[in-house]
Amino acid sequence: MSGVCVYLVGAGPGDVELLTLRGARLLEQADIVVYDYLANAALVGRVKPGAEAIYVGKKGFSAHVTQDEINAIIVEKARELEKRGGGTLVRLKGGDPFVFGRGGEEALALAAAGIAFEVVPGVTSGIAAPAYAGIPVTHRGIASSVTFITGHEDPTKNASAIDWAALARLAGKGGTLCFYMGMRNLELIAERLVQNGAPASTPAALVRWGTTNAQQVLVATLNDVAPRARAEGFGAPAIILVGPVASLRERLAWFENRPLFGRTIVVTRSRSQASAFSAQLRGLGADVVEFPTIAFSEPDDFGPLDAALAQLDAYDWLVFTSVNGVDAFFARLAQVAETGRTRFADARALAGSRVAAIGPATAERLQAHGIVPDAVPAAYRGEAVFEAIREASDRCGIELAGARVLIPRAQVAREALPALLQQAGAQVDIAPAYKTVAPAADAAGELARRLKAGEIDAVTFTSSSTVRNLVAALGDGKDALRAARLFSIGPITSKSLRDAGLDVAAEATEYTIPGLVETLVGAYRYHNREQGA
Ligand code: SAH
Repeated sequence: MSGVCVYLVGAGPGDVELLTLRGARLLEQADIVVYDYLANAALVGRVKPGAEAIYVGKKGFSAHVTQDEINAIIVEKARELEKRGGGTLVRLKGGDPFVFGRGGEEALALAAAGIAFEVVPGVTSGIAAPAYAGIPVTHRGIASSVTFITGHEDPTKNASAIDWAALARLAGKGGTLCFYMGMRNLELIAERLVQNGAPASTPAALVRWGTTNAQQVLVATLNDVAPRARAEGFGAPAIILVGPVASLRERLAWFENRPLFGRTIVVTRSRSQASAFSAQLRGLGADVVEFPTIAFSEPDDFGPLDAALAQLDAYDWLVFTSVNGVDAFFARLAQVAETGRTRFADARALAGSRVAAIGPATAERLQAHGIVPDAVPAAYRGEAVFEAIREASDRCGIELAGARVLIPRAQVAREALPALLQQAGAQVDIAPAYKTVAPAADAAGELARRLKAGEIDAVTFTSSSTVRNLVAALGDGKDALRAARLFSIGPITSKSLRDAGLDVAAEATEYTIPGLVETLVGAYRYHNREQGA
């Protein structure tokens, strides 16, 4: 036994989440991945570092690697793994490997070479693309069969392997015909079916780039599907679906109706914070462009924070004004504890102080560190956190006048909260725990280009620093922002936008990420009339 196995894995039709759990696990464990045009390139990003990814799709501009060449590459690479003492090769194929995927030929080549293989079925586009278009391929009382057919074969050739008379009969009874690779022959396919007795009025649907954000759907009849496709420039890759089930789209369309479908939205948060926000937007149908305007690094001087960490018991209040502040504080605490200058490396170091959080996200992060904050304001701004601290102080019997307050935070930040605390007589220590750094210039240039080209619908701003940093990063390209709608998380961020001479399309009523998502959904509620239905 060599310990080598080749897995023929179905990648699904396009939506990366339609990969099976088994496929995902094998991809993560693969030493070599061989993939092609329709297998989503984003999936290849899941492979482990150091794994080899081999593209066997389009070579150069148009010529394809031949199937024999692909078979040879798979066998050769499997042998290479054998020599290395074993490993996993994943052959990732669009949709299902055995449905018009030539997976059978690859399996035969492996069998002939004596190499072990397994097949991991995938979600095939012939079912999934119609499903995302709101078309069930079978339906009780309407369609009692579905037939998968290659549309690639030249329908004019005499000895056709396709029984057009049988297909026309099935269609006449309401059966569903599902053609893959048929766009080039669309006109001939429709003609053949009608010539063989299928009613010209039979509904026919085209679904292009099904299950992806580029999905396009056209619903017509056998009679006019080809001219309409031509008029609308409708091309491959698409599924051609023939049968009365196509009419169900009128009532069952859902994918394009998601509130942010077709919108390209920029997320300016730092990479570490963006993922939850991006995931929510994607879940609502948006195409998300992550442009982290902020990255975090250590502050220029850890001196003030280190000094504070060495005498944490002396503070009546610790005030956290961001999620990053919490992370940076605990990271430094652990480092300082190693040197023996503080007794505890974790939440126990805070046992003697009251803790405030500026808002729910910061509070949640504190809780992840084992701290339940004593004060969290209802509104998420410096002024409100001051009020919350004052109330909590009263409750806990702390005299704010003379109280010692530590604010571990960004190197550059707003002064409102420290000023208010000082006015109340508190002794405030500000300790930079991290600093923000700007994004790369070439990324900013690309964003400016996309903005000017009208490829971006909206840009979201989740803090004043995202505004300042994006404007600074764009430099002269700043005016490109006028081409998009700008959404702000709250009044302070909005003010920063206006100060930069920019218009605010809408501001979140609740100053949180979910609040901002809700505002985006509200702004784009009325749109996206589907094509052709
Ligand atoms: N093995 C694949 C099919 C490969 S043949 C599967 O099971 O899905 C390639 C054809 O699949 C294309 O010409 C097109 O007809 C169809 N196809 C693949 N992905 C598609 C998608 N996202 N939307 C519509 N059709 C798709």
